[in-house]
Amino acid sequence: MTRPVAIVTGGGRGIGATIAARLAEDGHDVAVLDLSEDACQESCAAVKAHGARALAIAADVSDEVAVERAVRQVSETLAPPFVLVNNAGILRDRTVTKMSLEDWNAVINVNLKSVFLTSRTCFPYMMKGGGGRIVNLSSTAALGTFGEANYSAAKAGVIGLTKTLALEGGRHAITANVVAPGFVVTEMTRAVADRNGLEFEGLVEQMKRETCVGRVGRPEDVAQAVSFFADRRSSYTTGQLLFVAGAPRG
Ligand code: NAP
Repeated sequence: MTRPVAIVTGGGRGIGATIAARLAEDGHDVAVLDLSEDACQESCAAVKAHGARALAIAADVSDEVAVERAVRQVSETLAPPFVLVNNAGILRDRTVTKMSLEDWNAVINVNLKSVFLTSRTCFPYMMKGGGGRIVNLSSTAALGTFGEANYSAAKAGVIGLTKTLALEGGRHAITANVVAPGFVVTEMTRAVADRNGLEFEGLVEQMKRETCVGRVGRPEDVAQAVSFFADRRSSYTTGQLLFVAGAPRG
């Protein structure tokens, strides 16, 4: 039997790398997209270790032409995508009076515009293939976070966009859902600690106290939720927002 193909953006490290490996373990072939092909190699090796085919593609997901080229390459090399995981994301934290338009645009483009571009490009392939699964990464920051006007707005936008994709995709057997993590240990959160002059372990202790499960998140926690939404059998679950944050949110 042919394995369904999944695209994971920002799959070179962190949560995206773990999602790529998990989807391979679940039975998918995986295309790993990141800013450079080199950044994808380790993730591709992990995908192959599960007996899956892997494809590394350098693509800036905020670039319309790059996205179209990447999805075409996936379709021609592996097969048209059944799963699209929009995971690529960046931070440019500043309080609002200090936030430049460049900080605003960069974050909106990578975290929100990219989800529109990849979804718009994958939709026709999924329609032709008889269906698909779109899983978008938001964040608890969508509820508002000090110093993250750009990121909060982008991650809230992802929720509205996903619900609309669910409405428009339903009749084509395409589902669209959102996973919104709380604090997860990755390079992204280490950089937050560095930028704020905090010891990472101190930040982890602080974030632990904001959960009710007494620990912070791991990339595997997020991959577990993505795996459910990406499953072919999850065809009656669409337009949903799932917080993976160790505590009730929303
Ligand atoms: P990460 O460690 O910074 O990884 C993000 C990946 O995306 C990196 O490989 C990065 O490449 C890539 N990327 C950045 N801009 C890109 C672009 N324009 N095109 C293609 N790839 C790009 O982040 P993470 O912590 O794993 O986060 C993954 C997702 O989860 C993000 O959407 C983030 O907002 C969300 N999230 C994370 C947390 C958390 O606590 N970590 C919480 C809530 C939500 P480079 O390394 O080259 O920059």
